[in-house]
Amino acid sequence: MQTTVGIIGGGPTGLLLSYLLDGLGIDNEVLERRSRAHVEARVRAGQLDHASVMYLRRIGVAARLDAEGLPQKGMNLRFRDRTRRIDLEALTGGAYCTIYGQSALTKDLISIQTEAGHSPTYEVSDVCLEVSSDTSAAIVYRKDGGEHRLNCRFIVGCDGAHGVTRAFLNSGTPQSARHLPFSWIGLLSDTPPISRELTYVYHPEGFALWSMRSPAVSRTYLQCARDDRLEDWSDDRFWTEFSRRMGPETDIRPGPTTERVMVRMQGYVAACMQRGNVMVAGDAGHIVPPSAAKGLNMAIADVADLVGAFKALLFEDQGDALEAYGRSAMRRAWLGQYLSWRMTDLLHSPPDGNPFENEIKLTQLDALVSCPGRLREFCDSYVGKEALA
Ligand SMILES: Cc1cc2nc3c(=O)[nH]c(=O)nc-3n(C[C@H](O)[C@H](O)[C@H](O)COP(=O)(O)OP(=O)(O)OC[C@H]3O[C@@H](n4cnc5c(N)ncnc54)[C@H](O)[C@@H]3O)c2cc1C
Repeated sequence: MQTTVGIIGGGPTGLLLSYLLDGLGIDNEVLERRSRAHVEARVRAGQLDHASVMYLRRIGVAARLDAEGLPQKGMNLRFRDRTRRIDLEALTGGAYCTIYGQSALTKDLISIQTEAGHSPTYEVSDVCLEVSSDTSAAIVYRKDGGEHRLNCRFIVGCDGAHGVTRAFLNSGTPQSARHLPFSWIGLLSDTPPISRELTYVYHPEGFALWSMRSPAVSRTYLQCARDDRLEDWSDDRFWTEFSRRMGPETDIRPGPTTERVMVRMQGYVAACMQRGNVMVAGDAGHIVPPSAAKGLNMAIADVADLVGAFKALLFEDQGDALEAYGRSAMRRAWLGQYLSWRMTDLLHSPPDGNPFENEIKLTQLDALVSCPGRLREFCDSYVGKEALA
């Protein structure tokens, strides 16, 4: 098989890239190791930045997002046993986030592509990259018991944090990673949200987040010990602790749990985002702690940038367009790390319950909400106001 762009990974990054390349008439193939049903069912992210929503509208994939997405024009910040509403829309001059599940976006992209007659090849295995020159490469993989070869001019790794492309690009180069001394336990449950807007809680015993997927489904997270296991947290223990951190006045009526997840909090940036005709986008290049909900948004920004680079290279003869992508993707990765770590640091209590550090956190939060300039700057980066390419 022969194509121009071989894409490894059919998560949101690979699917979006394929859709946009199709729109430009650049032929491409997506190879995905899981089944379509598995990819569509993966829950993960839920919040889209302002810039991501505007971009998805502009490229014509936002019909269901506009109909079903839940606008987040404000957010609640709870600390010192008091909840303060932060008016994101007013403080940013009209920008806000939208709750729309990653699985919904993934399904939208798959169905648009399937209708157009271009679907990923699912359930491939033993994927490996062969690069012979800057204009010639191949992806070798197994499917249905046989070995296959996809010859391509470019390879884009959209294969997430545990894929093969990141390892291929990083070989021999040190990578940057940081692991935090705590994790998140998360429940997806048929519990009505306590508010139409997200509530972030700083509590001396640990962070809590009440998020949602619909008016009837909540996504709730608690900071827990780094090495806790899912089986350490019964639903009863979760909701008792959640209610303690949210405050006694919160009326919580837990419904049945449909998914439980343990998230190890970490950040990672690949040693390089592009070398010759191989590049990465999305989680293959960077992962951030989920506190600021930036992962999927950074992935969308990577794709917007990369598609511009392909256009410049293939239609406008800009020979250094992919190198320029590598540099801007690296800058974006570190900016995303900075925003995510800032929010993580602000809202998580020290695992040893150190009273001195606790007072410092509370003072930071007081300073944030009492200074309009600081709050405006925080809201601008939280909603992801800056337009994508
Ligand atoms: C609990 C949680 C909550 C999150 N919340 C948010 C949020 O609210 N907002 C936000 O912006 N982000 C959030 N994120 C991050 C977000 O989910 C990721 O950034 C996003 O999934 C990245 O998409 P991706 O396509 O780059 O990677 P992935 O979604 O990981 O997709 C990679 C794909 O590549 C496939 N693959 C892997 N290896 C191979 C291989 N060798 N061959 C072929 N295919 C392969 C995988 O099966 C997968 O389908 C969250 C993440 C988690 C874990």
